[in-house]
Amino acid sequence: MNSFWLSLAPVLWLTIIAIPVGILFNAAIVFGLYSIILLGIVIYHIHTLYCLEQWLHHSDLSYATVPDRSGLWGVVFARLARFVRRHDKERLGLNTSLERLQRATSALPEGIVILGDKDQIEWCNSAAERHLGLNLEMDAGQHITRMVRQVRFVAYLDMGDFSKPFLLNQSRLRDVLLSIQIVPYGDREKLLISQDVTRFEKIEIMRRDFVANVSHELRTPLTVIGGFLETLLEENKISGEMEKNALRLMSDQAIRMRRLVEDLLTLSRLENAGNNLTEEQVDVVKLLQGLYQEAQSLSAGRHVISLNLASHAMLLGSEDELRSAFENLISNAVRYTPESGIISLNWVVENGKGLFYVQDSGIGIEPNHIPRLTERFYRVDRSRSRETGGTGLGLAIVKHVLNRHQASMEITSQPGAGSIFRIWFPSNRVLPAETAPVISSSPEHTKQNSAA
Ligand code: ADP
Repeated sequence: MNSFWLSLAPVLWLTIIAIPVGILFNAAIVFGLYSIILLGIVIYHIHTLYCLEQWLHHSDLSYATVPDRSGLWGVVFARLARFVRRHDKERLGLNTSLERLQRATSALPEGIVILGDKDQIEWCNSAAERHLGLNLEMDAGQHITRMVRQVRFVAYLDMGDFSKPFLLNQSRLRDVLLSIQIVPYGDREKLLISQDVTRFEKIEIMRRDFVANVSHELRTPLTVIGGFLETLLEENKISGEMEKNALRLMSDQAIRMRRLVEDLLTLSRLENAGNNLTEEQVDVVKLLQGLYQEAQSLSAGRHVISLNLASHAMLLGSEDELRSAFENLISNAVRYTPESGIISLNWVVENGKGLFYVQDSGIGIEPNHIPRLTERFYRVDRSRSRETGGTGLGLAIVKHVLNRHQASMEITSQPGAGSIFRIWFPSNRVLPAETAPVISSSPEHTKQNSAA
């Protein structure tokens, strides 16, 4: 029999006995007694409920004495007491884990801020308090941009593209440079992670300065050496064939070193954050027409080169930097395309975005090399790069120029079939021109030009 029937049994027995006894003897006395007993039972249950209510009122249930009852109430109290103990144990475990987590995050050198769905501060560790000048007790609930008031940071947060960290110069903390990484999670919450990168930045600046200074110092001696070697070769003052060969070799190497130094200087100029981008209106058509002529002379008739200008749109940016990026892609196409290969230079506007691309039918690139091509000195074939006068810095320069113009590069290539290097410019850098006729400089056109 379960506890329900056990608790009900006395009442049932009482009723079963009271009815015949009441009928046989004095009904008034029997039912009067019956009612008094029932009232006693009701009072007992109400009192037990009151004890339950008093027990539940205790601030710490696990330490309060459980009311001592038998029967169904006894079972209920035993279950509740067990539930409370288990719940307390779990809560204690959770509290311990939370405390441990908080202690661990407090010990982290990185600052961590939990931002709510409206970018309000919900929690932060002590490193974040130090880095961003926060005080959790006072600033909880405040919008993060009220605490980090830099315009560029507000724009970064609004833009919502957190693929790259944001560099925050905290002049308040004696020129501390922070790298801010935002990680969205959950519904619309975010995790803001701040890292002090002042030391790395200092080392990076030292490295950049060192390369720039060495390159600069090498420039003059190399120009002098190259100049003398050229003069000696031109004046034909050396008689022996072996000496002449040695002289030619020395001159070629001096030229190569000068090119390397120039590329290194270009890279350090591009990397210099203080060097702001010149925002000018670049006539892409004119620029490409000039580069097309240069490509013709570099190719010296070994390739079929065409220029397709499907738009007259101009670009907003630095003409020198864009020339250098386009030049590198074009010279690569010429250098890595065997004789009688086909090369095309193209300028189009698609969905408001500017697209410049160079297509060649050259040696192509294996897919595994493509992600690394923009690294400094990364070459697929070192000897081929050297033979054709490469420095291994061309695509690194392209990458830097594109970063400064918020442009991106897409490389598609098939070994043995050729490559396409596409550069996409964002629509805010494209200055639309009035509808202009499509200009195309085909090889025939060039022949006509050169014949004229
Ligand atoms: P390099 O001065 O060696 O050409 P780059 O940085 O310009 O250096 O290019 C890096 C490497 O990418 C090159 O060494 C070459 O292997 C590969 N590469 C670049 N452009 C092309 C192309 N159009 N076709 C085939 N390979 C290319």
